[in-house]
Amino acid sequence: MKKTIHIIGSGFSSLAASCYLAKAGYKVTIFEKNQTIGGRARQLKKSGFTFDIGPTWYWMPDVFERFFGDFDKHPSEYYNLDKLNPAYSVYFGKNDAITIENSLEKICQTFEKEEPGSSKQLMEFIGGAKSNYDIAIKDLVYNPGVSPLELVTPKTVMKVNQFLSTIKRDVRKKFKNNRLAQILEFPVLFLGAKPSDTPSFYNFMNYADFGLGTYHPKKGMYQVILAMETLAKELGVSIKSDANVESILVENGTANGLIVNGKKEKCDLVLSGADYHHTETLLDKKHRQYSERYWDKKIFAPSSLLFYVGFDKKLQNVDHHTLFFDVDFDVHAEAIYDHPAWPEKPLFYASFPSITDDSCAPKGKEAGIFLIPLAPGLEDTQELRETYFEKIINRFEDLTQQEVKKNIIFKESFCVNDFIKDYNSYKGNAYGMANTLLQTAFLRPKLKSKKVKNLYFTGQLTVPGPGVPPSLISGKLTAELIQKVL
Ligand SMILES: Cc1cc2nc3c(=O)[nH]c(=O)nc-3n(C[C@H](O)[C@H](O)[C@H](O)COP(=O)(O)OP(=O)(O)OC[C@H]3O[C@@H](n4cnc5c(N)ncnc54)[C@H](O)[C@@H]3O)c2cc1C
Repeated sequence: MKKTIHIIGSGFSSLAASCYLAKAGYKVTIFEKNQTIGGRARQLKKSGFTFDIGPTWYWMPDVFERFFGDFDKHPSEYYNLDKLNPAYSVYFGKNDAITIENSLEKICQTFEKEEPGSSKQLMEFIGGAKSNYDIAIKDLVYNPGVSPLELVTPKTVMKVNQFLSTIKRDVRKKFKNNRLAQILEFPVLFLGAKPSDTPSFYNFMNYADFGLGTYHPKKGMYQVILAMETLAKELGVSIKSDANVESILVENGTANGLIVNGKKEKCDLVLSGADYHHTETLLDKKHRQYSERYWDKKIFAPSSLLFYVGFDKKLQNVDHHTLFFDVDFDVHAEAIYDHPAWPEKPLFYASFPSITDDSCAPKGKEAGIFLIPLAPGLEDTQELRETYFEKIINRFEDLTQQEVKKNIIFKESFCVNDFIKDYNSYKGNAYGMANTLLQTAFLRPKLKSKKVKNLYFTGQLTVPGPGVPPSLISGKLTAELIQKVL
């Protein structure tokens, strides 16, 4: 008889784990509380517009290829990828933006125009970042975070100083131009912490950005979820939506089932891809590994205020991905990490997928996604959301020199309360737990429960960390651990 595994949640990490486990011969069932699968990467469709609710940046294509390759497949069998050109642009003031194109050579020319001599520095910097990428993404992140020794290799020993310095310090040493420095500090924001708190070894994100480039799956990131769903079903995984897990059953110290919508579902092993903190609340207190104090002391990645907006015209002077860094980054970062509060002058990010992908909006119209990073746990009211929409849309009009407010057909918002309600997210975090030096690898919450046998975890709060590629890797890591015991 096949051993049965029940998986909580249907985000990237759960779907990835389900594929590996089904391939290994287990009977796998996914239970997802929401009506649609995909977790934070769900999709919103409205009036002919299509929006990715969560992730919009497809970085590190090699990780996706490695995932599908493990099943003798290739992403192109499921979705079409476009390498975006430009990759993105960054506004620093009115009519004043730097555009990042799709090759290192062109990016060097842009740097040179901004600060003569800086392209040589950039090539050197990206060379180091590539070497770190090769060590980190091809090797280190595929470790399960069980032992500190996983981080000690002949190659990392040579780079130990890069774990002691920070991205900010390294970038600022090499680049005196504030705008270029800000662009180089941007990629590590995906890891959830301030550049001044992120070890400089993580500059491999700069190689992901400038070296590998920014991609867009035609019809949006949700195509990747659909691809994984198809693969999982091909492998025999059963996926149940509208299936809220109310508790994890433990008998004699071993997990052996779930209560789903009031009904007992017995199994041999439980794997949770739901937020780690929430998963532990599904257990009796004595079976939880981490206290409320533990979670409270951790540095969480930001939450976000998001708007999904349908415009009745095409917009000007923006790219598929556009960042608005026209205000002080450090002041906004303080409001996220040091003194949690709504930022007075927020930085924001906007995405207009319909600029490069006709399927995202009706002809002649534009789909816009606006995102303001926020501290998790902030008060979230309709009034605050409206106030902040006004703030950024007025600035948007001014910076990009066009009127857009009167062209809004509809707008939907998503913020702290929705992250909690829809995903059981701890304090409404959007991107899980930050990757700082003290929250890396074996220092993160564990894939395997220390207290309950046959209970495992995956996802952005455990190893390797936040983001879609790490979530795919997390699913693989936990599946490998499970195969060792079941
Ligand atoms: C706004 C936003 C923008 C982002 N942008 C990017 C980006 O551009 N690029 C990138 O790489 N990453 C990005 N990320 C991060 C990325 O989306 C996440 O790291 C990744 O999707 C997390 O996947 P996961 O499997 O860990 O968890 P989740 O996607 O959160 O999945 C967990 C699932 O568990 C379900 N669940 C919870 N509790 C229960 C329960 N009791 N019973 C049943 N089911 C339950 C939830 O509904 C959810 O479906 C972004 C995230 C957000 C929110």
